[in-house]
Amino acid sequence: MKILVTNDDGIYARGLRALAEALQQVGEVVVVAPDREQSATSSAITMHHPVRFREMEALGPEIRAYAVEGTPADSVILALRLLLKDEEVALVFSGINEGLNLGDDVLLSGTVGAAMQGYMQGLPAVAFSVGVAEEIHFEAAARMSALLACQLALKSFPSGVLLNVNLPNLPLEQIEGIEVTKLARRSYFDMVRKGYDGKREYYWIRRGTAQWESEEGTDVHAINNRRVSITPLHSDLTVLSPDSSFLPNLADTLFQAIRSR
Ligand code: MN
Repeated sequence: MKILVTNDDGIYARGLRALAEALQQVGEVVVVAPDREQSATSSAITMHHPVRFREMEALGPEIRAYAVEGTPADSVILALRLLLKDEEVALVFSGINEGLNLGDDVLLSGTVGAAMQGYMQGLPAVAFSVGVAEEIHFEAAARMSALLACQLALKSFPSGVLLNVNLPNLPLEQIEGIEVTKLARRSYFDMVRKGYDGKREYYWIRRGTAQWESEEGTDVHAINNRRVSITPLHSDLTVLSPDSSFLPNLADTLFQAIRSR
């Protein structure tokens, strides 16, 4: 079984190594990852300049690895369409990200963006993230990734598996369970910080503190209760909720107004 491993923290990230080494126990791992940190690039692909890559020994001589001068999504596309084009890739794993990717943040996450590319190409794909702290525990995520890879390879799951897995930053024995969740809602107060470089003003966009709606059943709630969260995702962002019942009326009104011109 061949497993493509990628991330958004870059090819030298500790979490990538932990993931690749764990998955190597259950299959042949090929790493194709950005050559530097590309967090919060979501599913972005590079279209305004060419993309280059080089083969590396960043993860030791046993693991084939390529560093891509591009985004996580570029890496997955390059891997599946060029580097591993003639090889049968069974699974795509992304991570282990240093920092949780919960709730609405999945739309920004490069870790999830990379997994999403795998899913778009029809492969089961999993994003792994762990809570950030001074000392990060990758062991639980690494062990879980190998077990999950076996499950995904052995069982016939419905097509279109995209799993967003988040783990509290705890040693394995302190984790209290695994829960299948939905995304929590989160609101941010984004901030813009101004500076001056001696010639011109510049700005940093900074995320403020998140306000979470941590209902039971959500990924945030699971993490807060020392449990692993597995959220199944798909790329269809459409909602048909009672909230959207005004839309047919709005559509009619717009069409009437356009025609009355
Ligand atoms: Mn990251």
